[in-house]
Amino acid sequence: MSVPLSNVQVRDLEAVLHPYSPLHKLRDMGPTIMSHGKGVHIYDTQGKEYIEGMAGLWCTGLGFGNEEMVEAANRQMQALPYYHQFSGRGTEPAIELAERLKELAPVPISKVFYTSSGSEANDTQIKLAWYYNNAMGRPKKKKIISRIKAYHGVTMMAASLTGLPYNHMDFDLPFDGILHTECPHHYRFGPGETETEFVARLAKTLEELIDKEGGDTIAAMIAEPVMGAGGVLVPPSGYFEAIQPILKEHDILLIDDEVINGFGRTGEWWGCQSHGMVPDMISAAKQLTSAYAPLGAVMIPEFMMEALEAQSAKIGTFGHGYTYGGHPLGCALGVKAIEIYQRDNIVGQVRHMTPLFEKRLAALADHPLVGEVRNSGLMGGVELVADKDTRRAFNPKDGVGPQCAVFCQHHGAILRPIGDTIALCPPMIIKEHELNELFDRLERALNDTLDWVTREGLQAA
Ligand code: PLP
Repeated sequence: MSVPLSNVQVRDLEAVLHPYSPLHKLRDMGPTIMSHGKGVHIYDTQGKEYIEGMAGLWCTGLGFGNEEMVEAANRQMQALPYYHQFSGRGTEPAIELAERLKELAPVPISKVFYTSSGSEANDTQIKLAWYYNNAMGRPKKKKIISRIKAYHGVTMMAASLTGLPYNHMDFDLPFDGILHTECPHHYRFGPGETETEFVARLAKTLEELIDKEGGDTIAAMIAEPVMGAGGVLVPPSGYFEAIQPILKEHDILLIDDEVINGFGRTGEWWGCQSHGMVPDMISAAKQLTSAYAPLGAVMIPEFMMEALEAQSAKIGTFGHGYTYGGHPLGCALGVKAIEIYQRDNIVGQVRHMTPLFEKRLAALADHPLVGEVRNSGLMGGVELVADKDTRRAFNPKDGVGPQCAVFCQHHGAILRPIGDTIALCPPMIIKEHELNELFDRLERALNDTLDWVTREGLQAA
């Protein structure tokens, strides 16, 4: 049934192609056009208020309308609205941000390469891994291991690394040479096994994959510490500790995708620090600038920098870069965001709020529709199931998760359905009463979803 649309909604539908949207349903659903925000609150053009429970796309860690960020942007735009990084040129904000990142990095970092997005950062990682192996005289060592349910972006290589069907279907992806190993989600993929047995099995499967393909053909493995867009999948403890020695043994680089996890989200500066991961290279974006401007960063170790320099000497240049990579606006905002995170102890704030977040999540676990709740710091997932005992899911075609997110929106909570998991990732500045209100709204939506499921007679797939 179509809803009456406002003028701005009609203009949107006439002019905009929306990413990651059910294009065939948008006219019936009516797009939601946001007009302004303050703190954790966002308002649409009809004046309806929402609590932004997803920090936009896991990125506005500082919430909306942060005056210090606006001033920093203004200052940079007045001073120098654009310059690039090509041919050895640069800008002071780009230098300052790289220095801050090197200080904060969880492992020793030699250089920071800038992009405009997380996808470009991950594409760059793969190009660097290939370039590096060519420099090292190992032209066969090029395959990349990723994981089922991973999300690494949507550019051609990043989408290939992603392990979710919608990113591949009818886009003629993934590329050859991308191997997807198992997903470390114990609840879904390890029933009947203890977490320890599950981890041991995943490590064994990875080893078998490497043996089958040949370690000398594999350049790198890419992994998010906590898988975000795959459904907020928190690895069991000991997972990275079990797989890292296998990668080391075969000289396979470990690329840490911190695009969602980084900058305090998990209760440490980096997700890898919360989950026992020790990477070689790191991708960052999103909360790097609290999303006040687009920016991505690739952090590489000294041994890779040396190889890149040697190869550049052979070829004549290092032939990779983006027009907007290291944009001075993004870099100035990155510097300011990190200054605020440090001054306001954002990591401490996330740790302070996590017990309440976990308490409210745990209470949801008793709801008849909820199979599992999980979190790492202030990112969480609520997985809806048709049968709690057997863990059987609803038929994806019934769209139970998406319908729950519609009810959430109706009750003033912006949350994201990932299949039938409802993801939560509020701005890291969220206060106690705001977090409680967010969960109250989610609870109302879950009850509406249960009524709807019962009315429609929906059952396990
Ligand atoms: N990596 C991860 C873990 C992400 O969650 C995302 C986006 O959600 C990306 C990469 C891609 O980033 P972008 O959308 O900025 O290209």
